[in-house]
Amino acid sequence: MELRVRALETVLTQKGYVDPAALDELIDAYQTRVGPRNGARVVARAWVDAAFKDWLRRDATAAVASLGYQGRQGEHLVAVENSPGRHNMVVCTLCSCYPWPVLGLPPVWYKSTAYRARAVRDPRGVLADFGVTLPESTEIRVWDSTAEVRYLVIPERPPGTEGLDEEALAALVTRDSMIGTGLAGTPAP
Ligand code: FE
Repeated sequence: MELRVRALETVLTQKGYVDPAALDELIDAYQTRVGPRNGARVVARAWVDAAFKDWLRRDATAAVASLGYQGRQGEHLVAVENSPGRHNMVVCTLCSCYPWPVLGLPPVWYKSTAYRARAVRDPRGVLADFGVTLPESTEIRVWDSTAEVRYLVIPERPPGTEGLDEEALAALVTRDSMIGTGLAGTPAP
């Protein structure tokens, strides 16, 4: 796959369709400037601001854009909120669709055939592999991303975080908790 991508890039560059410097710039942007910290700030804001959370539920694209996060692969964003009775998990069964503006580039496992197939067939098993065990009574809802719609999981706010400010809360929000393969962290005692 890597060789094929490189061959394709070479051909496109030779024909003058792409500028390698521009590609490097794009990749650098999504690797270093855009990443899960963006999504973490969105989640932290939702935890402290009920009106923002409501907006996020109704129109995640607009709510997220209000914090300055928008762009490729985030045009139609849907936020799905975890609750004690329901856990949400995101996959792209077809390929690797992912909400870039809030989470950056997808992790390798997200793109793997194993995850894509099993997230749908055995979400509880996948969660166990990630070290997450939920009560049997918790419903697990799996959302299949498409080129049109990308999902962002709003994890549950961990207990014992009442006194934390937004920045400290954001630090507890992991990438995996926003994909649904993890939970938000708990504050250090
Ligand atoms: Fe996809």
